[in-house]
Order: sequence, then structure tokens, then C-alpha cells
Amino acid sequence: MKTFLTLFLIAALNIFSQNEDATELYSKAVELSKKLLIIDTHIDIPYRLKSNFEDISKITETGHFDYPRAIEGGLDAAFMAIYIPSSYEEKGGSIELADTLINLVENLTKLYPDKFEMAYSPQDIVKQFGNNKISLPMGMENGTPLQGDFKNLKHFYNRGIRYITLSHGEANHICDSSYDPNKKWNGLSPFGKSLIAEMNKLGMMIDISHVSDSTFYQVIELTKTPVIASHSSCRFYTPGFERNMNDDMIKKLAENGGVIQITFGSYFVSGNYQSKMNELDNYYKEKNVKRYSDEGKKYYDEFMQKNKIDYGTSEDLANHIDHVVKLVGIDHVGLGSDFDGIGKLPAGIKDVSSYPQIIYELLKKGYSEKDIEKICSGNILRVWKEVEDYAKDKN
Ligand SMILES: [Zn+2]
Repeated sequence: MKTFLTLFLIAALNIFSQNEDATELYSKAVELSKKLLIIDTHIDIPYRLKSNFEDISKITETGHFDYPRAIEGGLDAAFMAIYIPSSYEEKGGSIELADTLINLVENLTKLYPDKFEMAYSPQDIVKQFGNNKISLPMGMENGTPLQGDFKNLKHFYNRGIRYITLSHGEANHICDSSYDPNKKWNGLSPFGKSLIAEMNKLGMMIDISHVSDSTFYQVIELTKTPVIASHSSCRFYTPGFERNMNDDMIKKLAENGGVIQITFGSYFVSGNYQSKMNELDNYYKEKNVKRYSDEGKKYYDEFMQKNKIDYGTSEDLANHIDHVVKLVGIDHVGLGSDFDGIGKLPAGIKDVSSYPQIIYELLKKGYSEKDIEKICSGNILRVWKEVEDYAKDKN
């Protein structure tokens, strides 16, 4: 009986000290999230606010991004996604939509001047760090508004756009898309090929998230500067999913000096969740049932319960970062959440207050402060500066 009691006490003490270690490590993560500059390269707040404007200077009931939660999470700079749906390629109006979304971002800094500030260069970001405002650089998600004319590229650069995601869910006049089975250009279009040199000359970052594999390889051949994937994860964990990058692509990206900004959604992070969702999709197709019809919703609830679906964890997310680091070293990975543009999130990640949780997972894996700093901002700042420097030399 006595031995049993001793063993029980030892086990209890062990659990206690493990919990204490975890609490200590989490406090360290919170401390680092305040101390280090954190840049997220893809947040979809402009499109969210366009359809439903909310005062994001206060905590909002819906969505992932607002000022108080960003401050809580230690976020310092958030690339605003100027998102243009693929349908605009055919129906027109893409330039107007892009300008409207850019105006909306500028208005945020006018409405709440003590909380948000525009940022157009890596120097702006560094200068603004620590001033209690969230810096708002901008990237355009989908090159449709270029409309095959370099004048438009210049226009959007002048308006403050600093990266362009070449395509979105469907092929456009620039290139093919990972989501589109119709690979009409087999990579880049003739305009797309000439666009790469123009973006290099202008100092516009090239974003290869969303593009097809052939497009990626052709961009890497043509570009004179490092490229970014503003919000992509590792295909290693989601086999067959072209929207995430495979190991060979990550190696080529690293040789090019570029950076993959890991995206947070469960569908991108957890292979298990993704395959269950595909199963569900196939059912809808087979039965010809719409997901949001009454029958579709009923089946969805049954399916989720029956399969005990989990959404992955913050540890899974950190595994993507770690996978890139093991493959190509610490200099080519960062954070591109896609907050306000994604569905389900892994356990432990809920919104822009969650960066400490990612730092915590990295600390658990033994990452140093210096390494974490590179992931949080150092790598993307280096790439952005190289892109700027090349353009300065050319002009
Ligand atoms: Zn996207």
C-alpha cells in the first residue's frame, strides 16, 4: 500500500511539474510575441469588410481580425489581401473592385489613425514596429486587374500594392491555377512570361500561392528576384493537393532565396481533415445534393458526428514550419494565416490573438529566439528588401 502511495505521489508530482513547464514555456511565448516583430502576409479583412463593415478598432463578434485581438496576439504588420474573385476575369470590373478595396484599407487608417497605419516598404514596417499600431501593407490576390497591360501594374504599384498572387481559383490571362483542372497555358501565358520581368523591374513581389505546379517552375526559371508563397502549406502532409507546395518546389524556392509563408486553415494543415472533407464532397456530388440545402446540412452534421472529425492542432501547424526547416533550413519559412479567408482552424488557433500558440509550439520543438524571429518576420523582410534593391538597381 505504501509503495502504491509513493508511486502515485511521484506520478502526480511529474504531471504537476510538466504542467508547470508548459505554463512557463507559454509565458515565454507570449513574451516573445510582444518582443519580436510579427508579420502575417495574408489577411482577408478588406473583402470581409466590403460585404459587412464592422468597427475593427473594437473586438468584433465575427471574423478573425480586429485591433484588440491583433494586439493581444503580438501582431505588428498584416498584409491586406486585395482579393479579386476569379469570375472578374470574364465579367470585367476588376480594376474598380481592386481600387475600392484599396480605398477601404486606406480608410481604416483614416478612421482609426492611432490603431492602423499604411506601410509600403520593409523600412516602413521596421520603423512603425513598437508604435502600438498595426502596419497595413497590401498584396493583390489574383492578377486579373492587370488586364494584360503593364500600365495597370504601375497603377497598382503606385497605389501601394507590394505583391501580386498571379492567379486565384481559376486560370486567368496570366497563368494556370492549382484549383483549375483546365491548364490552358501549361503554366504562364505569353503575357505572364513578360510580366515576371516587369514585376522584377518595378520591385513588386511575385506570389506563387494558388498557381499550378508548371506555373511555379516557369516563374522560378524567369525571375531575377526571390519569390514568395504568401499563404501555402506543405503538400507532404496533404498528398496530391496541388494548392500546397511539394518538397521539390520548396527546395527550388529556397535555391531562389524565396520564402513559403505557412497558411493556417485545417484543410491545408491536416491531411486527415482534408481527406474526410473530400469524402464528404464526393457524397454531395454522387447524391447531387447541395451542401447548404436542408438535406446537405443534415448529412453534414451526421457525417461530422459519425466520423468524429478533428480539425488538426497547432502542433500540426508547427510541423509544417518544421518540415520546411528540416528540408531547406531556417531562412525560407514564415507565417501567412489567411485569417478571414478560411474555414475551419486547427485546435489552439482561433484568430489573430493566436500567434503566441505557434511560438509556443516552436519553443516546444527547441527553436531558439533567433530562429523564431526569422519565422515571424526576418525572412519575409529579407526577401522584400532584395526585391526592392533589384528594382532600385534597374531604375
Ligand atoms: Zn487564397
